[in-house]
Amino acid sequence: MRSWMSLQAGFGDFQYRRNVYLFALRMSFLAVILSGAILALTIPPLGFFGLLPVSLSHAIGFGAVFSWLVGGTVCGMLSLTAGFTMHELTVSRAEFEKLSRTDTLSGLLNRRAFTEALDKTEGNASLVIFDVDRFKAINDRFGHACGDAVIIAVSAMLISAFDEMSVIARLGGEEFGVIVSGEPLEARMERIEGVRARIASGAIAAEGHDIRITVSGGVADLAAGRSKQAVYASADRALYLAKALGRNRVVHEREGLHHA
Ligand code: GH3
Ligand code: MG
Ligand code: MG
Repeated sequence: MRSWMSLQAGFGDFQYRRNVYLFALRMSFLAVILSGAILALTIPPLGFFGLLPVSLSHAIGFGAVFSWLVGGTVCGMLSLTAGFTMHELTVSRAEFEKLSRTDTLSGLLNRRAFTEALDKTEGNASLVIFDVDRFKAINDRFGHACGDAVIIAVSAMLISAFDEMSVIARLGGEEFGVIVSGEPLEARMERIEGVRARIASGAIAAEGHDIRITVSGGVADLAAGRSKQAVYASADRALYLAKALGRNRVVHEREGLHHA
């Protein structure tokens, strides 16, 4: 009862229209209770001093009806207006928040959202950074629009290759980050290698061209006590090594140690 009557309402409460009606109902109820309390406190003394223009019972009756009709209705209407304004604000704030975390071209998370997700990830997971090989040549040969189409196609392939537990983002240009979690490391590496192979085996249809591409990947593992910057830097070094070793391959940070 206490929480139902509470005047506090979080911003998130107004996300759904149903909550706006509940809020207005709650406010009308409060107005009625408050005006009832004021009447109960003021009418008997006025009656005692003979200041009431009508009998005490009539005054209480009129007071009750007016507190319901006027207090409840006016407060309900005002609360509905305020509630819907809050609803609009909450919805546009949620949209803005979503936009600020989304990459416009691919629809994937952007680097900012990815970094936040990486910071929150704990335990058995790997970070892989994929980079399209010789992407500049694709732009130069087929045009920027085709380059964009390749980025969109690679994004779609990544979405279909990783499950919902994984976090997929476009980090910028033709570079993508994936946090792969929930499997043993060998299974994760197999999955990552499978993605590389699938991308290399097909062609992407864009503006009348069949564009064949390859990607390179660098992988580093998250571990308790290991900073996320260290994981990122290690995956980046592994990616650099994959490029140096001839591209179209995935390198795990451990292999980097052998080559160092
Ligand atoms: P490497 O195999 O070493 O990765 O070579 P690369 O050509 O892929 O890499 P480089 O960094 O030399 O070139 C990346 C190019 O990606 C350069 C830039 O013009 C292009 N690029 C960056 N963002 C976009 C984009 O949003 N759309 C398109 N079409 N091209 C982009
Ligand atoms: Mg590249
Ligand atoms: Mg790049």
